[in-house]
Amino acid sequence: MNRDFSLLAGRQFDLLICGGGVYGAWIAYDASMRGLRVAIIDQGDWASATSSASSKLIHGGLRYLEVYDFRLVSKALAERRRLLEIAPHRVWPLRFGVPVYADSRIGRLRLKTGLFLYDFLARLSGANRAGKSMTHRQFGRRTFHDRFPFLKCSGLKGGFTYGDAQTDDARLVLELVAGAMEAGAVCVNYCKLTEYIESRGLACGAALQDMLGHGSAHVSARQIISASGHWAATSDQGRSWCRLSKGTHLVMPALPTDEALLLTARSDGRVFFMIPWYGMTLLGTTDADYRGDPDHVAVGAEEVAYLLTEANRYIEKAWSELDIVGSYAGLRVLKRNDTASPSSASRDWVLKSASNGVHYSIGGKVTSAREDAASIVNMVCAKLGVDVPCQTMSRHLPWAPEDYAGWYAAIIARAMKLSIDHESAIWLARRHGKRTEEVLRMVENDAKLAERIMPGLPFIYSDLLYSAGNEMAVHLHDLLRRRMPLLILAKLRENDLGRIASVVAPLMHWDQARIKREVESCFQQ
Ligand SMILES: Cc1cc2nc3c(=O)[nH]c(=O)nc-3n(C[C@H](O)[C@H](O)[C@H](O)COP(=O)(O)OP(=O)(O)OC[C@H]3O[C@@H](n4cnc5c(N)ncnc54)[C@H](O)[C@@H]3O)c2cc1C
Repeated sequence: MNRDFSLLAGRQFDLLICGGGVYGAWIAYDASMRGLRVAIIDQGDWASATSSASSKLIHGGLRYLEVYDFRLVSKALAERRRLLEIAPHRVWPLRFGVPVYADSRIGRLRLKTGLFLYDFLARLSGANRAGKSMTHRQFGRRTFHDRFPFLKCSGLKGGFTYGDAQTDDARLVLELVAGAMEAGAVCVNYCKLTEYIESRGLACGAALQDMLGHGSAHVSARQIISASGHWAATSDQGRSWCRLSKGTHLVMPALPTDEALLLTARSDGRVFFMIPWYGMTLLGTTDADYRGDPDHVAVGAEEVAYLLTEANRYIEKAWSELDIVGSYAGLRVLKRNDTASPSSASRDWVLKSASNGVHYSIGGKVTSAREDAASIVNMVCAKLGVDVPCQTMSRHLPWAPEDYAGWYAAIIARAMKLSIDHESAIWLARRHGKRTEEVLRMVENDAKLAERIMPGLPFIYSDLLYSAGNEMAVHLHDLLRRRMPLLILAKLRENDLGRIASVVAPLMHWDQARIKREVESCFQQ
């Protein structure tokens, strides 16, 4: 994946996509596989906004059953099934526990009814590779506590577990961009759309700025999609379509379980999660109206206090601020509505068209972005008179191995033969899919590359070098936030960052001065 801004200048495309989050990436991948001439750009890195700040769940959204949004849940469950099938390396099953306490807002009977309905809707959407392991189970007090021994015992009546799925959101986007490129799309990160070019009131192209300082370019496009996330709300028209809500996650130490927990905040009744990810625990999320700067979405002190307070109501050994390893915040784009709290607003997606003919993707979920993108590309094809059906429904993702189970067993065995520890091997397979073989080949040539970069986290040096050489990272924080999210999973000190930057410097063509700048900019992320 090489970045080449010069491929844009003066070109005519069928479709220009502004925004390289999960929506833009699925649109680019889908459209380029249907044979359209596609360009996709992002003002920053791929997935540098909300699409690397989600809870990383591929889920139906159990909590939406409470507001009777069966359509949204069914749609998301069908997409969960599809993604587990077409991207077994990228999306994997994850079980959730739901404890029931004497004072729980949702009692045992209501929860059981909801979980029956969730399983029923999942079955309606068809079987999947996770099959029966997704259905819910009920536990008594003792057996539930044996499963989650770190939970407080007092008042615990029992609980349930149910199946959903998980991903690495930023790597999903990267894989889709790589797939679009393979299918012929021009994909350029750090490239900002500054202005639409119009002819007789209709947009027919755009002015683009190279954010790495190599000038600007004009491109022509027969259709333009803005998949610019919350930046859609920076115009008057956009503001009338959207409501923004900020969601924060804290990264906490590992809990002794490989299952997640769905919990209810005692202060306001909202649902929040504790989710295992790369060996750490994601604690989130918050959900509050946002009217601040779209370019700088920061974690607030009150959100930290809220999450720690609510988590500590459930766990025996309380967390303090000193236990926080990392944090991140992102903005949800919700359809404009007048509900009092953003958490009761619909998460559904909508396509809006401006008077100049530019189409805006508003809202949605990582989980359902494939289907929403397919309907956008259907609309674009209809406008262009192209009659090629969508292929993303059944086609494996570009890095998905054939015969996943057999491939997985063989690749883990091969990695362990090369002295790569088991946990790192599992994550390598999830991160790179069939390209893991190329990462292992690097270890075959240099055994030291099997070592972990940070002792407590499952990332090895060959992975770092492979990502630096092949995944269009421009800055150190691209590598350490989105290609491998060390920046949020560890408290990296200046000397850790300096060491990592020096390892990748020859591949990135960085001299000492640039290394220093790159390390400094990691502290500003
Ligand atoms: C806290 C939180 C938790 C969530 N958890 C989940 C979850 O677990 N599961 C789930 O399914 N969904 C989840 N979601 C929803 C999901 O993350 C979003 O729906 C999705 O990431 C939105 O993707 P997007 O492509 O529309 O926007 P973004 O990812 O925000 O992408 C928009 C891109 O446009 C670019 N851009 C903007 N303006 C320009 C310009 N002028 N020129 C060039 N580029 C531009 C930006 O740089 C950005 O990269 C969550 C959301 C939040 C906030």
